[in-house]
Amino acid sequence: MKPKLSQQDLENALHAVDRLISVQGEVATKTQELRTAIKARVGEIQNPNCDGAHCRFSKGDVRVLPTGGDSNIILCRGCYEHEIRWRKERNQKLSRYDRFLLPTWQSLRVYEAS
Ligand SMILES: [Zn+2]
Repeated sequence: MKPKLSQQDLENALHAVDRLISVQGEVATKTQELRTAIKARVGEIQNPNCDGAHCRFSKGDVRVLPTGGDSNIILCRGCYEHEIRWRKERNQKLSRYDRFLLPTWQSLRVYEAS
């Protein structure tokens, strides 16, 4: 048997649900703002010798990663890992002959900044 609800009970319930929806919206907005703030902070960390944009530290080794042909990019460890993750993902959609190479960090030549 359903409990008997008054008009007031129903209005209170509706109000509570509306409040919940509104709070969810606020949480989503705040979460998005937080994400933007964190992304901005991540971008602030830059190894001056690195060509990448995903540095985790402002100091440390940079190494030479071939990008095909005669070109190279100079990357720190964080940016190298980001690049390799991207290449692995791309490789899943490329034919065997077009796949990116996935050299290990240890195999890369250390770049001596002048
Ligand atoms: Zn970097």
